[in-house]
Amino acid sequence: MKKESPLEKKLLYKRKLVWDELDEKSRRKALNFAEGYREFLTRGKTEWEVVTESIKIAEKAGFVPLEKIKKGFKGKKVYAVNREKNLVLAFLGERPISKGVQIIISHTDSPRLDLKAHPLYEEENLAFLKTHYYGGIKKYQWVTIPLALHGVVVLKNGKRINLIIGERKGEPVFSITDLLPHLAADQMKKSLKEGIEGEALNILVGSTPHKDKEAKERIKLAVLEYLNKNYQITEEDLVSSEIAAVPAGEARDLGFDKSLIASYGQDDRVCAYSSLRAICELEKPQITSICLFVDKEEIGSEGTTSIQSTFLLSFLSKILRLTTPSAGESQLRELLFASKAISADVNAGVDPTYKDVSELRNSPRIGCGVVLTKFTGHGGKFGSSEASSEFVAYLRNLFEKRKVIWQTGELGKIDKGGGGTVAKYLARYNCEVIDCGTPLLSMHAPLEIAHKADIYSTYQAYSAFYK
Ligand code: MN
Ligand code: MN
Repeated sequence: MKKESPLEKKLLYKRKLVWDELDEKSRRKALNFAEGYREFLTRGKTEWEVVTESIKIAEKAGFVPLEKIKKGFKGKKVYAVNREKNLVLAFLGERPISKGVQIIISHTDSPRLDLKAHPLYEEENLAFLKTHYYGGIKKYQWVTIPLALHGVVVLKNGKRINLIIGERKGEPVFSITDLLPHLAADQMKKSLKEGIEGEALNILVGSTPHKDKEAKERIKLAVLEYLNKNYQITEEDLVSSEIAAVPAGEARDLGFDKSLIASYGQDDRVCAYSSLRAICELEKPQITSICLFVDKEEIGSEGTTSIQSTFLLSFLSKILRLTTPSAGESQLRELLFASKAISADVNAGVDPTYKDVSELRNSPRIGCGVVLTKFTGHGGKFGSSEASSEFVAYLRNLFEKRKVIWQTGELGKIDKGGGGTVAKYLARYNCEVIDCGTPLLSMHAPLEIAHKADIYSTYQAYSAFYK
């Protein structure tokens, strides 16, 4: 290949492979970073499990509950939790908080199958659980794979019972059946969307009849007896529960070279973990740095634990009042106006098998680093908050200084589809916000794929932003 001329070098933009730019030491660091990430994925498969795991990591790094700080706030590391599903961490900086903060927001919920209020039934001597899927899934991907149940059941007296079945060695798994090809002539004529219907996502959970031969539904009764013995719950208790079926098993390395991670839930725990590590490893920042995990992003960011709840605002006003006890609404608005935020979410990397949905001049590539997405939305930028060019320039400069390999992204070709993130909800507060995260393959599938170099580059980008 002809060598680049000085003029070409000066004028042309070139996408880079992260692996080409890292020295041996950084490469080892990147691979090491992925080890911790893989374990994090295995231990955190629901938003509340991610919060629990993240608190452990944060406390090791010196973060303490906010209410423990009474005075002398500079240089303190604090956190707060909302309804066990949101976590916010703040590393309080030298500069007054009223002059603005730096926030990285990711979401820790992922597409899955939630149990209905009355899930358990039996038919033809088999017991099943009825589900209602959560988030955007391709339903056909969720049948005939091993599933685990992760949940919380709240008894009438308020007692919470945690349950995880299907992850440990020796534990059973669960699964949704599908039609054998021999009898699927009619099903195979349907579209992928209709081939498996929502009401067909019934999870097989048992087949042993209760020994009471007089009982009406013996298989169902046996399942309930098991649940009652092991978890003290009755059928009615399931009404006040949140139980999710998620792909069973550990996150794994993928490829002969182990260069990729294959796991459920990488959208958006890859950004959550990267931002968590970035804030935990941060040394005394000048500007107060904040890491926030939100929930319900996959179903439109509604609800008390979503980005649209007042949790972040309450937290910000609490830390603002640590230094300015008289601060009120208008000071909080000024703080937000002076703040910078990253909406840390994944983007779709070009899949060589499905290239035709991507506009190849503007779509992110796997292995080419963290993705800056100036706008999301669909057809005509609809629904996007779009970052300012000033903010893009600021980050471009920062990434160059900190040697972060990055690329730009757009989610697919115009009019092929699209998607949104939490960015627009933050933009309402009039603070600078941009989407920045890891490119994935097979997004929203039971097994999503990310490149270890991109994961590390995401972490480097967030570290640079905080510094
Ligand atoms: Mn996401
Ligand atoms: Mn998503």
